[in-house]
Amino acid sequence: MAGGRAADVVVAGGGIIGCFVAYYLAQRGVRVVVVEATGIGSQASGRAAGIITPSWGPVPKEILNLHPATFRMHVELATRLPDESGIDYGYELIPHVRLAFTGAGAAGLRQWQREREAEGGRVRWLAPEDARKLAPWLTCEPLGGVVTEIEPQCDAFELVRAVARAARRRGAEFVAGRVAGIKTEGDRVAGVSLEGGATLSAGAVVLAMGPWTGLAGEWLKVRLPVAPQRGQLFTLSEGADPTAGERVGVWSWDLGGFILPKRIGGTIIGTTREDGVGFDRSVTAEGRRAVVANAALISGAVSEGAIVSERACLRPVSEDANPLIGAVPGWRGAYVASGHGGNGIHFGPVTGLAVAELIADGKSRFDLTAFRPDRFGVHAACARSGAGA
Ligand SMILES: Cc1cc2nc3c(=O)[nH]c(=O)nc-3n(C[C@H](O)[C@H](O)[C@H](O)COP(=O)(O)OP(=O)(O)OC[C@H]3O[C@@H](n4cnc5c(N)ncnc54)[C@H](O)[C@@H]3O)c2cc1C
Repeated sequence: MAGGRAADVVVAGGGIIGCFVAYYLAQRGVRVVVVEATGIGSQASGRAAGIITPSWGPVPKEILNLHPATFRMHVELATRLPDESGIDYGYELIPHVRLAFTGAGAAGLRQWQREREAEGGRVRWLAPEDARKLAPWLTCEPLGGVVTEIEPQCDAFELVRAVARAARRRGAEFVAGRVAGIKTEGDRVAGVSLEGGATLSAGAVVLAMGPWTGLAGEWLKVRLPVAPQRGQLFTLSEGADPTAGERVGVWSWDLGGFILPKRIGGTIIGTTREDGVGFDRSVTAEGRRAVVANAALISGAVSEGAIVSERACLRPVSEDANPLIGAVPGWRGAYVASGHGGNGIHFGPVTGLAVAELIADGKSRFDLTAFRPDRFGVHAACARSGAGA
């Protein structure tokens, strides 16, 4: 790569977001190179639970506005991406049951049900005995529950691989390397420099580095406040899988935690939400205990001894919980797509398409106002003379 390589766009980061940006850029005939430091989908994108729903938990309403579009895109992609890429990414739609164990939880769940119904979602209230019919393996005593049949899931790692391979087949290039800085000429970006000294020249750069995106903000002297939040997930052994093949995901509404059988990769239980641990991606004894304890309230068959594999990864969480999607303030040709928190798999398609439209067409069909990266202001020491690397 010495001497540089010309591309229209360099995408820094090959997680779900960077891969979808590349996919939709390549679809438009844009020459795009994705630079990935540790392997395509090797971080949160390849380790996530793969639930294609915003879960309607503590998610800002602004990003929820993009839910119908990204949901339609996932449904449509599922009809052709496996063929386009040659990769079955385990897409499937199974019922999800959310259970309430306390009076306050039941009231909250009723409210949640009303909201989903108002959106036109197929959701219905379950008496405890009905919940047990759907998931005969339940050993807990809920006050009630809600069942949905509107929340698909997939294997997140296989999805990232599928998107990357389909993008490659459309002409995108993938390079193993770590972006170490942004090359600039006046007020525009001119490419990236990589660790080791190589450079890649390009007319535009997209920062899709997940929780590491804030570091790139420092290169451009712009505040891109995205912080890591650790999540730990565990897979149960087949013999100790309480679902015993019953195809239903079960969530504890008020206590946290889920048991989720997957078409690819077995049954998983999750997850922790740990802020302030920095970039530490270790599984901890405390995390394992907490996740098992919550899942064991759903089924007493879950125990630490039933775990066959474990993983921890980092959600990219922005300062106001909405993602950053759009142009980096003060720099022509610089874009950011990050900060999707616990919902990046779900919002990957709409984000990728929106960024591709911004770059290729100069505007997007989606209202991205709430996600403008300039809403966080600039570094106090913002001065172009100091930017670049
Ligand atoms: C336990 C857990 C479960 C989750 N479950 C779900 C779910 O069910 N559904 C859902 O929608 N979301 C889920 N999420 C959230 C989802 O995983 C993230 O929102 C999403 O993966 C973020 O994607 P990303 O591409 O922005 O970041 P990442 O996946 O972190 O990708 C960023 C990439 O950039 C690379 N990179 C960083 N710095 C550089 C550099 N300098 N040069 C080159 N490359 C670089 C990294 O190596 C990485 O591969 C979950 C998250 C966790 C932690």
